[in-house]
Amino acid sequence: MQFPFTYDINEELDGFYLRHIVQFKNAHEMLLYMAAHELRHLYQWENPLKARQIRRLLRCDDEIDADIYATMTLSRHRSGKL
Ligand SMILES: [Zn+2]
Repeated sequence: MQFPFTYDINEELDGFYLRHIVQFKNAHEMLLYMAAHELRHLYQWENPLKARQIRRLLRCDDEIDADIYATMTLSRHRSGKL
């Protein structure tokens, strides 16, 4: 895999997303993103009521919520806040 790597989730999950593209500068960023995404699913699983509120608020499904969380985690990492 070559970095920077552009992850186009539209190709991975056809029809699920209007547009969602993230660029990883290195393997560390990619692992951080993937880990944050999966941890968010754990949070959704353990907090079903909150997860439903978030889905309503953001008008999205659990996958997009997990991607939003992962993108926020990556941007916090890049800004030096993690
Ligand atoms: Zn997911």
